[in-house]
Amino acid sequence: MSNNNNIWVWIEQRNGKLMDVSLQTLGKGIELAKHLAGKVSAVLIGDNIEGMAKEIICYGADNVYLVADPGLKLYQSRAYTRIISELITMHKPDILLMGASNIGIDLAPAVAARVKTGLTAHCSDLQIETIDNKPQLVATIPGFSGGMIVKIVWNEIKPWMATVSSGVAEKPDFDETRQGAVVKVDYEAKDEDLQIQTVEMVEREPASMPVEGAAIVVSGGKGIKTNEEFKLIKDLAEVLGAALGGTRPARDAEWITTDNLIGSSGKTISPKLFISIGASGAAHYTCGFMKAKYIIAIDKDPSAPIFDMCDLGIQADLNEIVPCLIEQLKSS
Ligand SMILES: Cc1cc2nc3c(=O)[nH]c(=O)nc-3n(C[C@H](O)[C@H](O)[C@H](O)COP(=O)(O)OP(=O)(O)OC[C@H]3O[C@@H](n4cnc5c(N)ncnc54)[C@H](O)[C@@H]3O)c2cc1C
Repeated sequence: MSNNNNIWVWIEQRNGKLMDVSLQTLGKGIELAKHLAGKVSAVLIGDNIEGMAKEIICYGADNVYLVADPGLKLYQSRAYTRIISELITMHKPDILLMGASNIGIDLAPAVAARVKTGLTAHCSDLQIETIDNKPQLVATIPGFSGGMIVKIVWNEIKPWMATVSSGVAEKPDFDETRQGAVVKVDYEAKDEDLQIQTVEMVEREPASMPVEGAAIVVSGGKGIKTNEEFKLIKDLAEVLGAALGGTRPARDAEWITTDNLIGSSGKTISPKLFISIGASGAAHYTCGFMKAKYIIAIDKDPSAPIFDMCDLGIQADLNEIVPCLIEQLKSS
């Protein structure tokens, strides 16, 4: 177990569809495995999922541990935790990655606690670095209340566990000629699996245009204080055909929903243009859009950290600048 090269990725499926964040995380696993000359195994749990196991191999996994049972069709926190923990105890992977979906962030800490290992959550990057002449997994996350970007390494306890935010890694190419092994794992429900049960999952319609995949995103922060100010941000987004995002305070004030929260606990995006308005630029926020092609920041405080990382900074009150922008855009 000392080679660090046995990498596992838990792949989440919902309603027979592989989740994008899981495939992106698989892409990160494959990238790490290349540095370590290692292998990537996927863990897939559900019902009627054999076809998906083959799909995962086409996406680059060397093998898939497949746990299929009608009782596992929906995410069951107790059962999934026990299954993955027992597989870890049996096969001793070195690294275990999970996509930081709502389910991934429920499952990962439960598994980490059960197998008594460390978990780095919401990583904005994962790399292999040589430390003390040994390859070491190094996670990047915003730390200390978002004041700085920090690197985290694990101690000798394995597996090294991490959740990877959506948009951080690339989904691997699909190659239908790839071959790999599907290892079927028997499942028999135990009493503890049934203590908490998911009985139904309901798909929620997004409240507004999703920020993922949008070419332009207009994003508001705590600087928005009134309905009138929020309307300005919304109007600017509308005139640009942009999706509307925001910071955590903007989400807490219910200007945006969690679906469009930008940052380490929300979405990581790379639009062509990102316009940030009335947001100071905490690392928890900026890590969510630092890969945008062009970043415009509007803030009234000239010392706001957002001005250190944007391509164009406008020091102004949003009430003055945004109406001008809307007017100019409408007349052009
Ligand atoms: C574990 C953890 C995870 C987190 N995850 C996230 C995350 O995913 N996303 C996220 O955003 N935050 C996250 N946070 C919170 C984050 O650290 C910051 O607190 C947050 O991003 C600050 O939001 P803000 O910039 O809107 O507010 P502030 O920092 O208060 O900034 C408001 C800005 O608005 C400006 N302003 C005020 N009025 C006007 C005006 N009229 N015109 C122009 N500018 C104006 C001010 O000058 C100021 O710069 C997280 C924190 C923790 C601890």
